[in-house]
Amino acid sequence: MISMDCDILVIGGGILGFSSAYHLKSQNPDKRIIVIDKNSGPAQGNTAKSEGAFRNVFASETNFLLADSTIDWFNHLQSRMGYDLKLNYIGYLWLFSEAQRRRLTGVLDTMRMRGIELRTMGKEELRESIPDLIMDFQGDEEAEMMGLEPVEVGLFAPKCGSVDADAVCRAYEAEFLRLGGEVKYGTEARRLLVKPKEELGISGEPFIWQEKHVAGAETTKGVIEAGTTVVATGVWSEGLLNPIGLESMMRPKKRQLFVFKDPKLGGLMNIRGLSGEGALPLTILPTSGVYLKGEVTEGSIWLGCADNLGRKFSLEEDPQPEKEYYTNNIYHVLVKYLPCFADLRPMNMWAGQYAINSLDMTPVVSPSPGMIYVGAASGSGIMKSDAIGRIVSAEYAERKEAELFGGRKFRVADLGIATRNVEKETFII
Ligand SMILES: Cc1cc2nc3c(=O)[nH]c(=O)nc-3n(C[C@H](O)[C@H](O)[C@H](O)COP(=O)(O)OP(=O)(O)OC[C@H]3O[C@@H](n4cnc5c(N)ncnc54)[C@H](O)[C@@H]3O)c2cc1C
Repeated sequence: MISMDCDILVIGGGILGFSSAYHLKSQNPDKRIIVIDKNSGPAQGNTAKSEGAFRNVFASETNFLLADSTIDWFNHLQSRMGYDLKLNYIGYLWLFSEAQRRRLTGVLDTMRMRGIELRTMGKEELRESIPDLIMDFQGDEEAEMMGLEPVEVGLFAPKCGSVDADAVCRAYEAEFLRLGGEVKYGTEARRLLVKPKEELGISGEPFIWQEKHVAGAETTKGVIEAGTTVVATGVWSEGLLNPIGLESMMRPKKRQLFVFKDPKLGGLMNIRGLSGEGALPLTILPTSGVYLKGEVTEGSIWLGCADNLGRKFSLEEDPQPEKEYYTNNIYHVLVKYLPCFADLRPMNMWAGQYAINSLDMTPVVSPSPGMIYVGAASGSGIMKSDAIGRIVSAEYAERKEAELFGGRKFRVADLGIATRNVEKETFII
């Protein structure tokens, strides 16, 4: 059993823990900073299960800033710092029915005014780019019975794509270690220590009249005392925060990914006139929340489904993918829009969990005495990771503003709980 002291203890070695640890260490090189994770290596929670998709297309200014600056950072990390992140600008493509387009007109105008590049594509252009796509269901009684929306228009966004989330997390870990940070895997925090600021050594402390703070954690390897504890435990955060009466602002929900590789899907890896990568952009079908992307690095198609209503909130240690969810559910929608999937079954599949903040679908960086909680990334923690790490570091330094990569400023308290000031995100998949 160990008993250690450090300046900053980061609990959780996923992308938010390591982005925070890296920015904290680069701003505070003389501080002793330790990252612990219950797993045997970095990113083994939900980070490596992610699709690694990123977009700068958000209705909320907050989400736009967090993602847009993080995308620039990914580019820097790969092109200037030499990390192979498998960064591909395949773009995002939303397929809309006429009614959906009309509903979104105002939002799209706002996003354009903000400088987000968006290209509207008519049916003819879509047909030329993706010959495999079916856009009309006239005479298809089954499609009508299913309520499938015809595609009237496409919205293509180029500053979007895909990155290897595990590689990004490992890059942060490598930089953190290079700066002298310490990492301890196989170390689980069992509980957070709440202590009086001025200890009297009387049994029963802390008493209500004493000023209290989080002073570290009791772990499976012993006690680690810390000046500041950063809780970055993703969907597991309630396990540490609930017992000491703090809010996590998130609930875990399962999300699954299915992977396909077949010569019949060759057309989707040779898309014309969109991103220059050739692969299918991350494409969102108009109905049912189904989305899919071409994975340039392995010539495969990755597919997911945003099943919100009907999918329960619950924490699962090792969530499993459901084959029938694809065959009985997703498949029937998919083959209507993309018949090239007929009779295909996934060659690989897995499941993870989103930490969903239902209130505004935006991450949280919230201070308490001796502690900073970072989480509730709501399914977009990879694409906002760098900005979030910088905001944690600014919170630690008690700065009002964080400087995001590229120099834009962000008011730190806006992501907090007490003084939260973010718009509700309405442009979600
Ligand atoms: C299927 C799927 C697809 C996704 N696709 C995308 C996408 O395309 N783009 C995107 O931006 N995001 C995506 N996400 C979301 C993204 O993966 C998360 O937002 C991100 O990984 C959250 O990072 P985190 O560091 O908060 O959590 P995690 O990566 O889960 O890290 C938390 C860490 O804390 C550790 N831990 C927990 N409890 C303890 C404890 N008591 N003691 C010690 N260690 C502990 C865990 O072992 C884990 O390593 C996806 C998620 C899933 C599941």
